[in-house]
Amino acid sequence: MLFLRHSISLGYRNHKNVIMRISSKFANDYDSSVLINGHFDSPLGSPGAGDCGSCVASMLELARLIVDSSWVPPRPIIFLFNGAEELFLLGSHGFVKTHKWSNTVGAFVNIEASGTGGFDLVCQSGPGSWPSYIYAQSAKYPMANSVAQDMFGIIPGDTDYRIFAEDYGNIPGLDIIFVLGGYFYHTSYDTVERLLPGSIQARGENLFRLTQAFANSSMLLNADERSLKVEQGTMEDRAVFFDYLSWFMIYYSRKLSAGLHSLPVVVLLLVPLFLHSPNNSVNIWFATLFDFIKGMLFHIVSLVFAIALPVVSAVLRLYFSTHAMNWFAHPFLAFLMFVPCSIVGLLLPRTVWAFLPLSQDASHLKLSKEVISDKAYFWGTFGFYISITMVYLLAHLGGGFLTYSISLSMLLSWFSYRLSSQHYGHQSIKSLAGYLIPMIPCLLYVVYYGGFLVQFLIEKMGMMGSLPEPFGYFVQDAVVAAIIGLVTGWCIGPLLPVVGHWLGRSSILQCLMQVTIIALALSSQFFPYSMDAPKRVVLQHTFITAGTNKVVESRYDFAVVDANSLAFLFKHSPEAAEMLHISSEFSFEENSHSDSSSWVALFPVPFLFSRTLKLPADSDSMLNHYSMLPHVSIHDSVLISKAGHRRVHLELHLGSVGEIWATVLNITGPLSNWSFADHKLPAPERMNGGPPSYICRLSGSTKESWTFWLEASSSEALRMDVAVLDQYLVDETKRLKRLFPSWADITAFSTFFSSYDL
Ligand SMILES: [Zn+2]
Repeated sequence: MLFLRHSISLGYRNHKNVIMRISSKFANDYDSSVLINGHFDSPLGSPGAGDCGSCVASMLELARLIVDSSWVPPRPIIFLFNGAEELFLLGSHGFVKTHKWSNTVGAFVNIEASGTGGFDLVCQSGPGSWPSYIYAQSAKYPMANSVAQDMFGIIPGDTDYRIFAEDYGNIPGLDIIFVLGGYFYHTSYDTVERLLPGSIQARGENLFRLTQAFANSSMLLNADERSLKVEQGTMEDRAVFFDYLSWFMIYYSRKLSAGLHSLPVVVLLLVPLFLHSPNNSVNIWFATLFDFIKGMLFHIVSLVFAIALPVVSAVLRLYFSTHAMNWFAHPFLAFLMFVPCSIVGLLLPRTVWAFLPLSQDASHLKLSKEVISDKAYFWGTFGFYISITMVYLLAHLGGGFLTYSISLSMLLSWFSYRLSSQHYGHQSIKSLAGYLIPMIPCLLYVVYYGGFLVQFLIEKMGMMGSLPEPFGYFVQDAVVAAIIGLVTGWCIGPLLPVVGHWLGRSSILQCLMQVTIIALALSSQFFPYSMDAPKRVVLQHTFITAGTNKVVESRYDFAVVDANSLAFLFKHSPEAAEMLHISSEFSFEENSHSDSSSWVALFPVPFLFSRTLKLPADSDSMLNHYSMLPHVSIHDSVLISKAGHRRVHLELHLGSVGEIWATVLNITGPLSNWSFADHKLPAPERMNGGPPSYICRLSGSTKESWTFWLEASSSEALRMDVAVLDQYLVDETKRLKRLFPSWADITAFSTFFSSYDL
């Protein structure tokens, strides 16, 4: 399967799911049912209160509520307490492939968490628009929009939704995810007291209504009924939907959106006729439209400046600062640094060019150049938003409503502005209010949505990955600056054609620049991390082994997943540095870096690592703890053809390792088949530009060994690297882990590597 866009085969045994089914006494085994899925396993080193103890708690309470309420479910409700999601969606795979009830599921709700609460966002829905329609009808606190669906394809992430709705079942369903509190996601800080208040209550209320709505719906079909329906082509496309400040949902079909979203284009084409009525001619129409295009380009230039100026400020600050991401633990700093300079960027073109070079003849129209230029600028800006809406429409994406609602609001505000300026005059503050007031509902929405997006992004920057020097140091700051610039452009851009006059004065620009400079200087005094915003560090105690009890090498591998390097970490962790003999003369550049094959036990996560370090470690304590090490024994090699085509039978013994999380096999050479994953090889991966390699990941607690075979298509040797990841740490490593400061979250584990030529 693909996981985070890397191909990998998975083998598993002995993972536990817990399944509960609530039905009326008249229900049959094959009745179509509603599935609620949430996982109770957690990733390495995390207690998993948010991800996903919160999901399990909601499901238990939902089950209690169904039993205690007077509502009798007309169709069965299945609760899947999923025991292996973090190991790449194995629990849901096991259910879909092997359980007798899996074919009865007519709709599913997958609840997940990528944080400790906050927005309980519908991130994916489908296939078809029915699940999102049910959500729009029934959710008490709706948090859903079709942009999230467009975005999910871009942001790396995977949930059980893919197994149910896409890869195996084609079951209609919803993917509902807690998206804030991302600082603690997959860390040791994901504990019960950090759950965001109110989130679970809101989720529970939504979930109860959703379950009822799905169970009551006539569209709830089991797998056989559904396959008939798909053949008849009655499953419609995804819809356009969004919640307004979580108060209510606006929902319409893709077909309707094609009509609705195109309407402003018609308005824009008709406007030149109204503006110059009754002196219309084709020439005037073209000249006016041409001026609108100039207005649009002018607005685009403003938006580019609104993004570029914060990015430049961010980069400049980093040149004078010893660390990146100072806004990480204090998001307000990001707003303080980047919003004022983004506004300067928006206003700058306006202060340089007071009005546009016009194609229309001002003397002929008996209007001042300024008035004509203002109109061209307004309609050009309007044209910009409807162009984005059209791009969305043509790309078959669901997010166009954002720019569509901006363009509608601008239209309404323009009428109100025209009316009030006839009464109070062009320059009056009351006319300005006439433009602003009708814009408020739209502005509120853009601020709500943009603010959420920035907060979400800031939290996720701590795990975005460390990119290679020298640019890696700048990436996180530049991304946050650019997004804040973009959001500021969204919020203030629609106001510019009218408000730009008032704001585009040099005194205001100077003031905003001064705020930016003070904020940049001040922010460098803040430390990027805290207990509430930990830095993520990965520590692997690596043992290279041979046979059943020989350790060839023992070492520590370190990696970080954000812009601040390991040099920064050790500078602020003097005790750990001392234990590892890292003195002030230690050069992080010159000392050996561990390559990505050292991290294969975590595959495919190591694509996030570029700043790694390896340091020698002691191996004696490990040999005291383990009487037998993980190893592979070769049973026999059967020749299939004279050309060297052969099948090698092998047995993987896990030795006396205790808390195995996963074993990863990395095979290079002429591999043509294997006994894993229904005898199918995944697409080969390449590590560090090395030879194509096939990766299989085995998991599940077991006392027995794994027996399997590999087939080679030639006499050339097959190489198999085996990495066994154990959660156990020797005392020395536990002590090292404790020496780091509390703002560092250390995910530590032991890995046993052994290699075989077959
Ligand atoms: Zn999860």
